Amino acid sequence: MNLKEIIREIPDYPVKGISFKDITTLLKDPSAFNEVVNQVHENFKNKGITKIVSLESRGFIVGGAAAYLLNAGFVPIRKKGKLPAETVAESYELEYGSDTIEIHKDALTEDDIVLIHDDLLATGGTALAALNLVEKMNVKKVYFSFICDLKFIENGKKEVLSNYETHTLVE
Ligand code: IMP
Repeated sequence: MNLKEIIREIPDYPVKGISFKDITTLLKDPSAFNEVVNQVHENFKNKGITKIVSLESRGFIVGGAAAYLLNAGFVPIRKKGKLPAETVAESYELEYGSDTIEIHKDALTEDDIVLIHDDLLATGGTALAALNLVEKMNVKKVYFSFICDLKFIENGKKEVLSNYETHTLVE
């Protein structure tokens, strides 16, 4: 199945010059959705993953389904102010301004083997901030999973991320 063809591209969204990869066309296709979740499961089923950590909000969809298949727990990372209990926060730079993401302080322990999943890797800023949050909790090991990696973007953040075993479905 050609997953790349099923992901719709929206020109000039959210701003002029950006070609947005819209994964909702993949999610609504039963065989494509099945294939994506099964491939994440297949790739990580022997890694001893105990928690899938996903990013608000598109990361939750495949992250949640894969956690179910892997018999792992699911941990959300959310934008600042959305999680109700005590949190750990990490700020990161955007093209204009900055953003802060949070995770519950008691969500992970030193015994956890974590798979960080998001829909798409662009500059790597979000994934690196998620990694910093997860590493604050001294977990045993971290893996990454993305549906889509915009390979044409290369920078230092992506170099840091390349030190971690990563599964990507579409480049
Ligand atoms: P990064 O931090 O630049 O790597 O951007 C990745 C984050 O922005 C992810 O959480 C994505 O959900 C979102 N994102 C950036 N570009 C796109 C896109 O073209 N399609 C879908 N999500 C995107």
